Amino acid sequence: MWPSSLNKFIHKLPDGNSRVMAIKIELENHTDLDIVDKILIENTCGNNLSTHVPVFCVLAAKIQSNNIKKSSNSGKKFKIEWDRADLNKYQGKLKETLQENQSPNLTSTELVGNLIYCLKKAEKFAIPSRIIKLNGPKLKVSAETKILLNISKQKHRIWDIGGRKRGLDDSFKQLKEAKYNARKMIRKERAMERENFFSQLEQKPSSKTFFQLIKRNLGNNKTSVTQVIRHEEKDITCPDEQREVLAKTENVLLQYSLPSIDELLIFLPTKIKWKQSVRHAINTFWSNKFRSLSKENQTLIRLCTDIINIGEIHPVWKTATEIPGDTKKAITKARILTGTYLLQATKAKFNIGSTDPICPLCKLEEENLLHFLTRCPSLEGVRRTFYAPLKQAVINKIGIDQWKTNFQNRETLSQLIVDCRKLAGSILPNDNNFLNMVETISRNLCDKLHQQRLSQINALS
Ligand SMILES: [Zn+2]
Repeated sequence: MWPSSLNKFIHKLPDGNSRVMAIKIELENHTDLDIVDKILIENTCGNNLSTHVPVFCVLAAKIQSNNIKKSSNSGKKFKIEWDRADLNKYQGKLKETLQENQSPNLTSTELVGNLIYCLKKAEKFAIPSRIIKLNGPKLKVSAETKILLNISKQKHRIWDIGGRKRGLDDSFKQLKEAKYNARKMIRKERAMERENFFSQLEQKPSSKTFFQLIKRNLGNNKTSVTQVIRHEEKDITCPDEQREVLAKTENVLLQYSLPSIDELLIFLPTKIKWKQSVRHAINTFWSNKFRSLSKENQTLIRLCTDIINIGEIHPVWKTATEIPGDTKKAITKARILTGTYLLQATKAKFNIGSTDPICPLCKLEEENLLHFLTRCPSLEGVRRTFYAPLKQAVINKIGIDQWKTNFQNRETLSQLIVDCRKLAGSILPNDNNFLNMVETISRNLCDKLHQQRLSQINALS
């Protein structure tokens, strides 16, 4: 029985009985303001078979939202563990804080705020809680994947409530499937994102993408989009391996005297400029390397290395037309040029001791390049025919006297046949057209000598 002095809300039941649904509480000293704004009794609920009906009470007092300070650990979520609460401690603390915060001239709004504050303080003091969510990096996924993730979470809850059964349990199977679907989608999206980043880096490199890559590989994860760097067709995720790759890159940049990664961070050239300087640096490096190495190489003694540049075609190929016969001739000429054309003397030098260095055609002397090109009597007929236009071309250019002075020397003559460019600037003029013509004539001469030599050797055996 409720005291009649209480301001009650009575609900009449269909069977004639009545029931107290709510009691209106009037706070001391605050009769001026009605704290309960509205009472709603829900009695039209068709499927509610019990005699109880829900009652809603709307309070008039409101807490000013800007009074609530944003907690520093926003992003963290706690679970309050009521079952582990120390009730005596809680009640004690609540009484204590309520007493502390008592004040005679409070409005009802302030009073409600106070009450909530005291409840929270007591709760923090006496009820343990644990962190269930930390303020970690946000997972960036599409709306579709988010749905899959939510399904996965729901399935996990169902499985959890059902007692976490494993094996053939239905909820377990559904959970596994939902997890698989969500993971698959996340991986797919990450791979696409990575692919996009790399294609952006390759096709439309901007300072931003380049910096992202460098910063990430230097270990600053904050601004990075991707977790991998691609090197020689492989995705590298291990930080140690990534550092190794970066160190290698740094070495390559150093080797070709290109700006270091640190310098590139400060000043990043445009794609075209970078391409140009890389090409130039690599070509210069290898051209110099080739020149210094070829000076030590005996087989390259007749090759004019000064005009050879990496990335440029040598005149031996440039002057040859695309006719297959011409290419064959150029191959023979290139062998003579690089000292890889095999004559008996070279065979004897590099091969077995039993190889005879003597010319197999005339048997007069050692068959070296000088003998083959200028001396061997067995090749004299061919030589005379194809040597004549060469001599004529040179005489037309430098005159008969100069010819006689310089080309009586067989060594100089064979140099003219092998690579005339080595004589350019001294004996011959630096005239590109003329030098190309000499190259073409000598290519024919060398080829005819080669053919003749081959057929004579074949006839011997
Ligand atoms: Zn001979």
